[in-house]
Amino acid sequence: MAVTEEQITEVLRTIQDPELYKDLVTLNMIKRIRACEGNISVDVELRNPATRGAIRDHIERALRSLPGVDEVFVNTTIPASAPVAAAAPRPAGAPHAHAPGHSHNQPQQPPKAEMKNIKNIIAVGAGKGGVGKSTIAANLAVGLALAGRSVGLIDADIYGPSVPTLMGLGDLAPGVNVDMIVPFQIGGEGIATPLKVISIGSMVPKDRALIWRGPMAHGAVRQLLTQVEWGELDYLVVDLPPGTGDVSLTLAQTVSVTGAVIVATPQEVALADARRAVRMFQQLGIEILGVVENMSYFVCEHGKEYDIFGRGGAQLMAQQMGLAFLGEIPIDMAVRINSDAGKPLDNFAKAAASKHLAEMVRLTEAQIDIRNSTRPVAKKMDLRIS
Ligand code: ADP
Repeated sequence: MAVTEEQITEVLRTIQDPELYKDLVTLNMIKRIRACEGNISVDVELRNPATRGAIRDHIERALRSLPGVDEVFVNTTIPASAPVAAAAPRPAGAPHAHAPGHSHNQPQQPPKAEMKNIKNIIAVGAGKGGVGKSTIAANLAVGLALAGRSVGLIDADIYGPSVPTLMGLGDLAPGVNVDMIVPFQIGGEGIATPLKVISIGSMVPKDRALIWRGPMAHGAVRQLLTQVEWGELDYLVVDLPPGTGDVSLTLAQTVSVTGAVIVATPQEVALADARRAVRMFQQLGIEILGVVENMSYFVCEHGKEYDIFGRGGAQLMAQQMGLAFLGEIPIDMAVRINSDAGKPLDNFAKAAASKHLAEMVRLTEAQIDIRNSTRPVAKKMDLRIS
């Protein structure tokens, strides 16, 4: 039988804050509980950041002992009034999960995490699955790393996490340093700063991730954003699930996203979904950096080009919606083979699509540069002070 919120609350009542000697429920530290199919997510607002590891361990152990519980995600936030000086030592370069400006009057809306060390966050979305969104996200991250940037990649596609395959991670599980998750590091020829990668697919068994309901993903996504040792990054690329849902909402609520790249194939049925995705991001307050037309056309071995899905459709859509066009990527068998083999760097060396991918990376970065250079002075100052 599925575990209920009431059962979870009862367990949390048995856990005391190590400094205040009262239980977490009585202290009003539990801000949100979600349970679905054996997965539990709990948001806890700590009184003292130094207690984070102890409280998280305690909650995880206690809830895992409930019958029918598979995974427990504990997300910790810290109110602005918390004693910062007493904070537990963080690994060098780890991002802050500290939350300025949070008020006890708004417990329903968790504060945005301050990603001090991450300059830009790029969301990659699509209207529907199978259009090559994860492929574009992974190649965008690799292309930026090849251009000399320090880059992180989060695979937040709960319905089909494919980054472990695309990046050649296999079934490896990420490590943990104190209470921070350590991302995988991908290096290779032409990459000065290894690309840091973490996938929701590496954190839960493959068959289980697929049965998640949107709301359950909230906790896991927050954890991937704020409790991973990202260090200093120029770009953090986030591969979102297709369509419109809770993961995108969590992303928008948790961090300040620089902008979203929308991936679409050119045929009309796919474009209708892509338009919806654009509007959803805009409603969430996430700017659209532009549209990538993937699987734009196919070049046969004799060099003849075939417009299988109606080349130019996504470009037209971008034009009609007043969005930037970030380029067309042809169907290239080498891209598919390199992706299945976990060798994304080869797409930039050997594939026919390589120059198109490099151009897509260049255009995306240009869109970010435009936004950063035209950002109001006040906002820039906020960023420095915070
Ligand atoms: P999504 O994330 O939108 O579900 P994927 O990125 O997983 O889609 O891509 C679906 C399949 O299409 C994968 O096998 C991938 O290798 C392949 N693919 C994506 N883009 C291209 C391309 N431009 N050329 C050839 N194959 C591609």
